[in-house]
Amino acid sequence: MNPERYLLVVSGPSGVGKDTVVRRMRELHPEVGFSVSATTRAPREGEADGVDYHFLTKEAFERHIADNTVVEYTCYCGNYYGTLCSEIEPRMERGEPVVLVIEVEGAENIKRKYPECTTVFVLPPSREELRRRLSGRGTEDEKTIEKRLARADEELALAKTYDHTVVNDTPDACAGEIYSILRSRLAEG
Ligand code: 5GP
Repeated sequence: MNPERYLLVVSGPSGVGKDTVVRRMRELHPEVGFSVSATTRAPREGEADGVDYHFLTKEAFERHIADNTVVEYTCYCGNYYGTLCSEIEPRMERGEPVVLVIEVEGAENIKRKYPECTTVFVLPPSREELRRRLSGRGTEDEKTIEKRLARADEELALAKTYDHTVVNDTPDACAGEIYSILRSRLAEG
């Protein structure tokens, strides 16, 4: 089996609920590893370092870039986000599926680097519902929400470039759908 096939890349606009969906999938299927990204953004209430993200200073992140220890990175709404080599390479070598929850530019870079990976885009049931979910989260101010919605429009336009799209009506159903996509990919051998 080509080790790239163990990579599952999930993207979707901010607020669509992709983190919840992926968390749910991993509760049901703990054999799927999670690539903890690095970021320079501040932790949100309840987020833990090394669990949700590796929270780094700008200097520490830039050191990773200089040392070539990030597989991909991007600047999103003013902060760095990136995938550390250490999060995915050992798992691919061991033949363990690993999911990356990253934005569109990162997904494109991963696909270019690992063409055999599987990419999935999570769509909201509607744009109105996306705004409602983003506001309902209560973790961002109005300006940040507007910034993220503008970015969401750009991201939604790229959904068709992914291998699969799924609609997040309910996290459980969406998690099931994404897991089936991964299983079928691995079954192809
Ligand atoms: P948030 O600040 O809401 O946690 O994440 C903002 C965006 O950055 C989301 O679309 C998220 O999927 C994306 N993101 C998280 N980690 C990474 C990463 O390692 N690389 C890239 N390119 N995007 C990431």
